[in-house]
Amino acid sequence: MSMAAQTSGAALELVREKVENGGRLDLADGVALFESDDLLALGQLAERARRLRGGGDEAYFVRNLTLNQTNVCRVKCRFCAFARSAREEGAYTFNPAELADDARRAFELEPFSELHLVNGESPQVDFDWYLETVRALRESLPGVHLKCYSASEIHHISTLSSLSYEQVLVELKEAGLGSLTGGGAEVFSPRVRKLIAPGKEPAEAWLEVNRVAHSLEIPSHCTILYGHVETVEERVEHLLRLRELQDETAGFLAFVPLAVHLENTRLDLDGGFGPTGADDLKMIATSRLLLDNVAHIKAYWISIGLPLAQVALQFGADDIQGTVGREQVFHAAGAHTETAQGAERLVRFIRAAGRVPVERDTLYNELQRWESVA
Ligand code: SF4
Repeated sequence: MSMAAQTSGAALELVREKVENGGRLDLADGVALFESDDLLALGQLAERARRLRGGGDEAYFVRNLTLNQTNVCRVKCRFCAFARSAREEGAYTFNPAELADDARRAFELEPFSELHLVNGESPQVDFDWYLETVRALRESLPGVHLKCYSASEIHHISTLSSLSYEQVLVELKEAGLGSLTGGGAEVFSPRVRKLIAPGKEPAEAWLEVNRVAHSLEIPSHCTILYGHVETVEERVEHLLRLRELQDETAGFLAFVPLAVHLENTRLDLDGGFGPTGADDLKMIATSRLLLDNVAHIKAYWISIGLPLAQVALQFGADDIQGTVGREQVFHAAGAHTETAQGAERLVRFIRAAGRVPVERDTLYNELQRWESVA
């Protein structure tokens, strides 16, 4: 056995002891996990941690529809192929009534329990446009959970309107907002943000929006966008900052690692390659192990593909997200996955991974369960 393999084996042993004793992993543990090449041992450890913390045989998914109301964005993240300038070809902005009609038609064709709405950060709209959108959606889809806007978008709305995060969130909640999406976290390190998203608000603002949302009983989601210029330490520090906020508020419903896609982006021109399958599985396993206070880790199939998302269910993930009709953000950046998966197909993949498929709503209430092969 090589020296490196021995060191990695010893580090994993240390992590195993902590997991068995309910101890907390630290920065050094997280780095050791990312640096280990013993993928199967990582997967087993993550699964063990998941079960010790109360996870069972279930693997979850949600019937949802992803919509984007505008792709006009002032931020210009270097990894983004979705955003357009206002006058650029392909730029679009739908008004609230158009979006709500579109969503209702989609619902009539194929019902869903969650609407996931994220946008570019357009300087051409105002707070009323957001409020009217949420109100129109609430009216046209009365039983559907409205999971709208990332913490970055809330920061943007606050800047547009000169209102505080709290004022923005209170009004959106009154209009019908149910939860926030998890995007915009990227990687918290200022070094990384400067390289990949220099126009984006600092990490502290993203975290503060979530803190305020949780205090208003608006749950949210958290993410990391990985596989570009970040170091292993920066990944772990990111996860630890999320864990710290979750200790304080307990408002994150789930963590969603997002594998970067670089086609059609400006990072692509710099010769970036994006993560491999091994990176994807390590990210799932390590986040399950470090985020001991976040109940659900999602293997987002849009970003890593359904076959690997299925494998990730043996690496600490317990959710493969959803049917995700019409995803556009990852597909603009070259994701080759389909844009929607029928619930039946998700059920088949979950079952074939040896898990019990459970359809959930956004808040993880169980809607349907497939106990045995029909
Ligand atoms: S990732 Fe979001 S904020 Fe960044 S440029 Fe794209 S749409 Fe804008």
